[in-house]
Amino acid sequence: KKIVGVLALQGAFIEHIQHFSRATENGYSKYQFEFLEVRTEEELAQCDALVIPGGESTSMSLIAESTGLLEPLQEFVRTKPVWGTCAGLIFISKRVENGKEGQRILGAMDIQVKRNAFGRQLDSFVTDLDFSAFIPNLTKFPTVFIRAPVVTDISLSKAPHSYDVDSIIESSNSYVNTGPVEVLHKLENGLVVAVRQGNKLGTSFHPELSDNYSFHKWFIDEFVI
Ligand code: GLN
Repeated sequence: KKIVGVLALQGAFIEHIQHFSRATENGYSKYQFEFLEVRTEEELAQCDALVIPGGESTSMSLIAESTGLLEPLQEFVRTKPVWGTCAGLIFISKRVENGKEGQRILGAMDIQVKRNAFGRQLDSFVTDLDFSAFIPNLTKFPTVFIRAPVVTDISLSKAPHSYDVDSIIESSNSYVNTGPVEVLHKLENGLVVAVRQGNKLGTSFHPELSDNYSFHKWFIDEFVI
């Protein structure tokens, strides 16, 4: 049996669990799944993979810290499959622009992200995107962005470069990721909103907030089984 955890400290975790349940209702007779809300180290230890939902990345990291889950999470992301959506993408990055004081990040992917990257005019929006370059036949996916981050650098494993942006938060992790970061999707204006590095997946948007389960099914097929 495969256990997929969804970090349930804060944010849109119930929607992820519902989407996974629907996505695996049919066609997986060989497999059994359990989708588990994760709030403790014991729950995390049972998981084969973890999803970190959208919500608010600073709050999420503060709760993780105060409940003693930050270190177990740091350990988990070293080896296991992880998918971060929106605030979850921020949480698994190595460096954050527009970070808040006290915010902690896991450094699971060699990426820099910028919080709230779309500004006021485009604060939240839904747009049909074509993900068929990496998800077979998914040519029109209703994609929800809510105060979303974007990926502004995908090569943090290389020599650290200097930067002159304020409010930078860096992760203290010292482990080395295998392989480069792959850009899965760029918007027409060039902004990077989906990335993969080995068994880590990061999306700026919220596939759990549309009524389409294809993204969740792909995560199961590609990262879990
Ligand atoms: N802006 C939020 C943050 O910085 C993320 C928003 C979201 O997850 N929808 O954490």
